[in-house]
Amino acid sequence: MPKKGISKKGSRKPKRVLSPFMDLWDETTFKYKALFDSNMIGIARTDFNDAILDANEAFLSIVGYTREDFKKKPLTWSMISPRKYDKVDLEKMDELLKNQRIVPFEKEYIHKDGHTVPVLVGAEAADNTLSKGVSFALDISEIKELERKKDDFIGIVSHELKTPLTIMKLYADFLRTSIEDGKSKEELLESANEVINQMDKLNILITDLLNMARYHGTESTFPMSAVNVGRCFKKVVSDLSRIQGRKIAFICEDAIYVTGNQDRLSQVAMNLISNAIRYSNGTSKVVVRVAKNKGQACISVQDYGMGIDKENIDRIFERYYRINHADDYAQKGAGIGLYICREIIKYHGGNILVKSTLGKGSTFTIELPLLS
Ligand code: ADP
Repeated sequence: MPKKGISKKGSRKPKRVLSPFMDLWDETTFKYKALFDSNMIGIARTDFNDAILDANEAFLSIVGYTREDFKKKPLTWSMISPRKYDKVDLEKMDELLKNQRIVPFEKEYIHKDGHTVPVLVGAEAADNTLSKGVSFALDISEIKELERKKDDFIGIVSHELKTPLTIMKLYADFLRTSIEDGKSKEELLESANEVINQMDKLNILITDLLNMARYHGTESTFPMSAVNVGRCFKKVVSDLSRIQGRKIAFICEDAIYVTGNQDRLSQVAMNLISNAIRYSNGTSKVVVRVAKNKGQACISVQDYGMGIDKENIDRIFERYYRINHADDYAQKGAGIGLYICREIIKYHGGNILVKSTLGKGSTFTIELPLLS
């Protein structure tokens, strides 16, 4: 963005003193007035010197200033632009000189409290004298945070995929030599169990990856039909109790139908019941109930496991969010299962809720509109 004392030719020139309180919009910048007032994006009027002549609320909130602050002490580009962008800003001024506009690019602004805010910025000059124009800014903190979490996720998954594979190979080699050496049945069983254990870990990670890929592939368009939700959950209960060797109680009053997508609802069942198993002791109960309540289908998955504390309970549905101590208890996941569940249930016009007591257990409840 324009910088203190940088002239249109990129050389230094004396700073022009302009009033920051110019309320009137002239012809050339008037076309942006409606957008300015809408506060959909941050807009600042500028003389392309160092002065910010006027800024809308959206712009001020990106950099953390109030209207009063702005009136007391006008903002300048050099106040809000980190020095590391000086070179880029100069190049962008050249672009502005050449084309009368700056194609949006990413940079950062300095917030009033000192932290930097990632922004997407662009500008348009009123004419080729570059005496006035507008600059646009969009706060992209959330996108950047999501990108960071996604990178972490890929890092965790790649690392975690490799670890069980290496261990599996070690134990498989060991198993082969043990067979060749005629080792005891117990020793052979120990190695075989370790291979199976590592395969379970791989299975969780690959399921997470598939869940994510499937979810993104069908984000808003999965076909809906009448689904017997009790039958759908029962199938997952019987598959999981067979695979995991855990006893899961299943209670269902009668045939309850919702409008939904059978595969996606099975995916939700799989995530919630797997979590109930993973985050509880191998001997404790897991109970799945399907019932009608106040014109809705209510499905609950209850466990008597580790539970979730108050600080974390509101965050567990966020993408990539995991509670650290979960690692001590269960095999590592990637923190996307519940996020996907919530998105799928939202798509079905329903709700997903959780009640939990630390150390006692959790109940996840889904409410879905009944088939009308
Ligand atoms: P993952 O289990 O793969 O980490 P999820 O999105 O399914 O990802 O869950 C997010 C976090 O919520 C988990 O890391 C865990 O800490 C917590 N959690 C989920 N289900 C339960 C449960 N039944 N009991 C206790 N904690 C749970």
